[in-house]
Amino acid sequence: MTQATKLLSEVRDCTLCAKFLPLEPKPILQWQPQARILIAGQAPGRKAHDAGVPFHDASGARLRAWLGISAEVFYNPQCVAILPMGFCFPGTGKSGDLPPRPECAPAWREQLLQPLTQLKLTLVIGGYAQAYHLPDAAKTVTERVKAWQEYWPEIVPLPHPSPRNNMWLRRNPWFEQELLPKLQARVAAVLSSKN
Ligand code: SF4
Repeated sequence: MTQATKLLSEVRDCTLCAKFLPLEPKPILQWQPQARILIAGQAPGRKAHDAGVPFHDASGARLRAWLGISAEVFYNPQCVAILPMGFCFPGTGKSGDLPPRPECAPAWREQLLQPLTQLKLTLVIGGYAQAYHLPDAAKTVTERVKAWQEYWPEIVPLPHPSPRNNMWLRRNPWFEQELLPKLQARVAAVLSSKN
């Protein structure tokens, strides 16, 4: 068993915060050390939990459209790693899914990030992932996404692609008009480059 397979197997067997989860622990992530793009997200929703597949919902369809890649490429762990801040479905509250479990990132994140030596692009989706991955924790998601050129080209902060954010997209047309075409070109270049 390789180190990577062993680590992935340990994550999949994790029950660290089981007593706080609404369903059985079922870590939903996609990871191989060769991945060139990292999607740092929030936590799987119920549909992803049921399917055992990350972004198995409308958010995933929109995210793939934002990136300009097919499901085949998106779900190829040699191309794309998908590491939400919490790997298990955290449950639902009054205004949507609950935050990722706070136990998860301290337990697993650095162990999984450190082997990603081929990484060329990190997409940091939503407030929880941005608070972890970006040093300017005082900013809001909108402020960070608006300031995308500060992080370019290695990191791109993104809003969550959930249909719940349709209003945000309508209020910020520059996102689809200016940022997305550049992001799609960057993703294509990263996936086609040899090193
Ligand atoms: S959310 Fe993370 S820490 Fe909690 S059981 Fe799942 S893998 Fe373990």
